[in-house]
Amino acid sequence: MAQIGNYLYLPKLQTHKIPYGEHAKNTIFERQLSTLPEEVIFCKKCVVSNQRPRIVLDNEGVCGACRWAEEKQQIVDWDLKQKNFNALLDKHRSKDGRFDVIVPCSGGKDSGTIAHKLKYEYGMNPLSVTWSPLLYTEIGFQNIQNMINSGISSHLFTPNRMVQRKIAKLGLVLIGNHFEAFGRGQVSYAFHVALDLGVKLVMFGENGELEYGGSLKNKDLPGQPIGDWVDLYHKGARTDEMVKFGVENGYLHKEEQHDPCLKYFAPPEAEKLTKAGIEFHWFGYYHKWIPQENFYYVSEHYGFRTNPEGHSEGTYNKYASLDDFTDPIHYYFSLIKFGLGRATSDAAHEIRENHLTREEGVALVHQYDHIFPDKYFTEFLNYMDMTEEEFWDVVNAYREKRPNLWKKENGKWILKQRVA
Ligand SMILES: [Zn+2]
Repeated sequence: MAQIGNYLYLPKLQTHKIPYGEHAKNTIFERQLSTLPEEVIFCKKCVVSNQRPRIVLDNEGVCGACRWAEEKQQIVDWDLKQKNFNALLDKHRSKDGRFDVIVPCSGGKDSGTIAHKLKYEYGMNPLSVTWSPLLYTEIGFQNIQNMINSGISSHLFTPNRMVQRKIAKLGLVLIGNHFEAFGRGQVSYAFHVALDLGVKLVMFGENGELEYGGSLKNKDLPGQPIGDWVDLYHKGARTDEMVKFGVENGYLHKEEQHDPCLKYFAPPEAEKLTKAGIEFHWFGYYHKWIPQENFYYVSEHYGFRTNPEGHSEGTYNKYASLDDFTDPIHYYFSLIKFGLGRATSDAAHEIRENHLTREEGVALVHQYDHIFPDKYFTEFLNYMDMTEEEFWDVVNAYREKRPNLWKKENGKWILKQRVA
């Protein structure tokens, strides 16, 4: 079932040729890869490896996310955290009918759960803020409509698509992640709205670094310090640096570097946020974060639906990351750069939550992780305004950067080492 609108029209982005493969090969913007260890070691409890940026494996070979999953069950005083959560909301709860908390909502099960609970369990006045997906899926669009239908006000921002597509292209070539054009806005835009509307609380879902394997440095903090954003969310590459490269190398027109939407791809200045007293908190800091339970919650409370096409490409999972047609390519690049695809990421957290055994997880990774998401590949290429050959030049440039992960045999690229 083709779900992209029949009338979809995407103008060409450039008429001249750009050497994407060369740019990908010589990029200085993907600063994570050089920090990764040579030898690939998998976590003994889940299926991620030490190739995940910033992940920490302890001396028993277990990753930080698995250790945190144990702590969540055994050590953390959730009653105390609930009290602190109530106090936080009391501090921000508006008495004059204004919005009092912003929830950045992609339309997925997690942000939907948070917005709905804040309103109906905690009596807050949440405003859901959505940074538009790059290419809506019908199911993603319906899910967010149903969240709004349940009584949540929503603010949607769609940046200039020509500029957004060019940022996506720069992300793909320079960082191996076209989804930068979504992720950056998704985090940053909510804070611009908070500043504009005078809302002092912005609530995200979970500390991804802690839940899925990454830096443990902010483990005991309720939210992300703004100073860490560039490293954690922008892979060490600031949007303005990428735009400058884009203008100098023919991705963006000169005038486009002054497009008003560009400022939303980066957070407001830290001093402004501090001065305005805006706080960043993770819902998952205060509550045991279990994605599957969020799925049950939104299914029950506002009819959230799973992927009508069955499991998503590259994984067995049916209910996560459904909002964007281009999303599967983002996971595919994680396979290319880190040897960790979408099934790995799904299986890892389900093992930690005891929904899968490690053995089952390994089997699912072998079955799904390496599958190239070709269902909407033509649309993806149209979106990027790239030929298939140019796309594979970029992919292969990233494979070549990781000789410890990939080798070429009889003209085919294969992962040297898989989880076992
Ligand atoms: Zn682990």
